[in-house]
Amino acid sequence: PDLTVLDRVVTGCRACPRLVEWREETARVKRRAYLDWDYWARPIPGFGPQDAPLVLVGLAPAAHGANRTGRIFTGDPSGDLLYAALHHLGLANRALSVRHGDGLALDGVRITDPVRCAPPDNKPSTAERDTCRPWIAREFELLRPTVRSVVALGGFAWQTLLPVLDAAGWTVPRPRPRFGHGAHVTLPARDGGPPLELYGCYHVSPRNTNTGRLSTVMLRELLRTAARAAGL
Ligand code: SF4
Repeated sequence: PDLTVLDRVVTGCRACPRLVEWREETARVKRRAYLDWDYWARPIPGFGPQDAPLVLVGLAPAAHGANRTGRIFTGDPSGDLLYAALHHLGLANRALSVRHGDGLALDGVRITDPVRCAPPDNKPSTAERDTCRPWIAREFELLRPTVRSVVALGGFAWQTLLPVLDAAGWTVPRPRPRFGHGAHVTLPARDGGPPLELYGCYHVSPRNTNTGRLSTVMLRELLRTAARAAGL
């Protein structure tokens, strides 16, 4: 199966009872501003071309963001910032992502999450992270021929990615590299193919952007570096 199949199949997953309950409960209750929305309320697949050389990895969908709109990082302040930065760098055809099927297209970049369903308080449990890991592991197996550069948006993505990338065929050094904004490690391919460049970036959440921990300039700079490393 290719990524198109994976993206479709994952939307039917119900493996985590707490998250299934939460994603459906938020869709029933809704938020006042979104009463006329028919929430997606299912797992969120990755978004972007199947042959992307650059992959961005977040955390999990927001209850009233992607869980409402059906597209990763869409419908919340984190996503507004991320898509605007991608558009600024020429990697998205528009600055604004509204909902799945709105015509937005990414060029050379794919965005995905280690946990595909919205968790309460944006915090998946360790068990939920582990239950969801096979989805992103399979995604990286399929992206393996083209991916050259990966950006982990936050420590959760970084920690989840290291074993995933190792299993997909790149060697992760020991001791394991630590996450930080601007952290960069080159992972050699065990089959002698091209290495993978892994970058750490603070998550684009309002908690980081409102406090000035992550600025638009810092985000653009890091994405530009990762895009160049991917040959974009
Ligand atoms: Fe399935 Fe992942 Fe959603 Fe759990 S978080 S129900 S494993 S898609």
